[in-house]
Amino acid sequence: MSGPVINLADRRPPPAGDQPAICPCGSWYWVLRSTHERVPEHGALTMRTDGTVSGYAGYPHCQHCGRPWGGTAT
Ligand SMILES: [Zn+2]
Repeated sequence: MSGPVINLADRRPPPAGDQPAICPCGSWYWVLRSTHERVPEHGALTMRTDGTVSGYAGYPHCQHCGRPWGGTAT
C-alpha cells in the first residue's frame, strides 16, 4: 500500500459520555436537587454493578455556585 495511512480513531474527539460536565465557574462537582414530590430532597441515583452512575432523579446543580446544569459543555 502506498500513500499516507490515516487512523481516523486518532482524529475523533472523545465521545461526549467520556467528558466531564464542568460548570462555567470551573467546578466539576454537582449535587442533585429534587424536581418532583416523589423524588427525595437530595435526589437519587441508579448505578451499574461497577459503581458508575447510569441515571439519576432530580436536577444537577453546581456544588460550588449553585447554578443549574445547562446541558452544554464549557
Ligand atoms: Zn458553578
